[in-house]
Amino acid sequence: MEGFKEAFDKIKKASHIVLISHINPDGDALGSELGMYPILKRMNKKVTVVNKTKPLPDYLDFLPNFEKVTDKLPKSYDLMISFDCGSFDRLGIEEKPPFLINFDHHVSNTRYGDINIIDPNAASTSEVIYNFAKANNIEIDKDSAICLYTALVTDTGSFQYESVNDKVFEMAAEMVRCGVKPDFVSRMLFQRDRLSRLRLLAKAYDTIELCCDGRVAFVEVTREMMEITGAIKEDTDTIVNSVRAIEPVEIAVMLREDEEGIKLSLRSKTCADVSKIAVKYGGGGHIRAAGATLKGEFDFSKVKKMLKEDLKEAVECRE
Ligand code: 5GP
Ligand code: MN
Repeated sequence: MEGFKEAFDKIKKASHIVLISHINPDGDALGSELGMYPILKRMNKKVTVVNKTKPLPDYLDFLPNFEKVTDKLPKSYDLMISFDCGSFDRLGIEEKPPFLINFDHHVSNTRYGDINIIDPNAASTSEVIYNFAKANNIEIDKDSAICLYTALVTDTGSFQYESVNDKVFEMAAEMVRCGVKPDFVSRMLFQRDRLSRLRLLAKAYDTIELCCDGRVAFVEVTREMMEITGAIKEDTDTIVNSVRAIEPVEIAVMLREDEEGIKLSLRSKTCADVSKIAVKYGGGGHIRAAGATLKGEFDFSKVKKMLKEDLKEAVECRE
């Protein structure tokens, strides 16, 4: 892949490196970032692992070196590496870094780095990091492998999405050879649920509305639901995925009341391109999973009306 060698040369020359991933990080963001950490430590680099979100999602607290992640940028450093982040603003920082390497797999990536290593065919950013390591003969230790494997599991919906191919399973197998216990990762990710999240699901599912011959589903999460159930933002993460599972839904849309406005999460099942819709409203993402935040005077019914035409057009696709 273009940029692998150039990026490694830049890393070799750097002394203090900042790793950073997108705000409201998911498993791929933190997993890719923390997967790189042991590699750089072994190269005797000074490394600061940053994410501007506080608190971090605690379902990822089992990732090795999770406790090293800080929301503070160091005063000085010579290289920044970003992970899984489609645009500069989603890093949550103001200042321009002295030099930036951008590792990602979002089609909509704006190539904001000095070196951009974007592979939209990769199932996860961690797959890009894995390929980077292989290309440069870098050893992956158990701590790295747990992080990279977790990123792969979370970004492929547990190996269910169409991004899953022979390379994904080869990487998974290699991670297992590096010491990952898949049952441990699964238990950490999926068997530590919170009651507040289930209570929130019950309320959110009650709002599901179908349109376009059942091809589109909306689900709402209000601030009030969050307060009543004691749920937190990350409790809303997978709601839209389970709504997409309804037959014959092709696109599921979650609308969530946030401080900054209305957060949209879009998912498609087989053929619709939801990243196009997200980009139109100032967001981005992938063909099957994308999001945006609508700032300003909006309410749920207004947003639904506004999206209807785009959604109607998008679900015209056929498998
Ligand atoms: P989610 O709906 O889970 O927040 O996000 C789904 C996908 O869309 C993720 O890959 C995420 O990075 C991307 N995404 C979500 N919100 C935004 C946004 O506001 N801007 C951009 N550029 N991408 C987003
Ligand atoms: Mn990702």
